[in-house]
Amino acid sequence: MIPPGFDYHAPRSVADAIQLLGQLGGDAKLLAGGHSLLPMMKLRFAQPAHLIDLNRIDALRGIREEGATIVIGAMTVENELIASTLLQTRLPLLPEAAKQIADPQVRNRGTIGGDIAHGDPGNDHPAIAMALDATLVLEGPKGKRSVKADGFFHGTYMTDMAEDEILTEIRIPAFAPKTGYAYEKLKRKTGDWATAAAAVVLRMDGGKVSYVRIALTNVAPTALRATDAEAALLGQPLTEATIAIAAAKAMAITDPAEDLRGDRDYKTAMAGQMVKRALAKAATRCP
Ligand SMILES: Cc1cc2nc3c(=O)[nH]c(=O)nc-3n(C[C@H](O)[C@H](O)[C@H](O)COP(=O)(O)OP(=O)(O)OC[C@H]3O[C@@H](n4cnc5c(N)ncnc54)[C@H](O)[C@@H]3O)c2cc1C
Repeated sequence: MIPPGFDYHAPRSVADAIQLLGQLGGDAKLLAGGHSLLPMMKLRFAQPAHLIDLNRIDALRGIREEGATIVIGAMTVENELIASTLLQTRLPLLPEAAKQIADPQVRNRGTIGGDIAHGDPGNDHPAIAMALDATLVLEGPKGKRSVKADGFFHGTYMTDMAEDEILTEIRIPAFAPKTGYAYEKLKRKTGDWATAAAAVVLRMDGGKVSYVRIALTNVAPTALRATDAEAALLGQPLTEATIAIAAAKAMAITDPAEDLRGDRDYKTAMAGQMVKRALAKAATRCP
């Protein structure tokens, strides 16, 4: 299938890309890896008259440490997340989860920024970013602003980002020592989006939960942070019973769409299972 015609622009700086976005207005779309945008164009769900390609802007790539914060350029591709020794040591949830996204071809081009900016509830990075307490840096004609990933997603394909803004960086606090983590994803086959998935970040103190963040993928119009489940665990030991309570509280906030991956009851039940598995795995990693 061939996408409709468009004019192609390849700016070399964020400032030039923002200027182009301002000039071309709603007729323009940013192009990152193209693995969500191009299929939508081929299906005529999106028909931008202009594509502004971010691939030649070097400042948008790379992973670095700034004190206790890990800073990831929006144009960093999945395979770079997987290969990063900095992430493997300081934020191991991210490379582990990135390995579960799509297939090697998609991971060679698909970017963390595109995955988040797209606002697709089936994408994995939104829930992972919420669990990691990520901050998203947006740049537009009025300057730079930072927003928490938790609160950024408003609905399917709807985010806090304005049409003339670019997601430039994802900033994430590096893990404190003895932080447990897991991303449990149920999919029908390798390369598929999640039927349901859960991201967990966990710390224990004296046998009780001292810090926990839980977020869910593809069981509502946006990724969800399971705050009631987190509250039920704080100060408690992690037992089969407390994990079951947390899973039930996570299931209570889901609102999945029925599709070929399952009906609402099945997806809700699988969200609970993924929370249970992720908590159990995270616990083994924070003795
Ligand atoms: C076969 C297949 C399987 C897949 N499976 C999964 C999966 O299991 N999990 C998963 O999470 N994803 C999956 N994907 C989606 C894939 O990860 C995409 O790469 C990702 O959703 C979008 O990233 P991209 O860099 O390709 O963005 P693009 O497709 O180029 O852009 C997507 C949207 O985001 C906007 N955008 C991109 N970058 C920015 C930016 N920096 N600032 C503002 N707006 C921006 C674009 O304008 C566009 O609207 C799959 C894709 C395919 C084709």
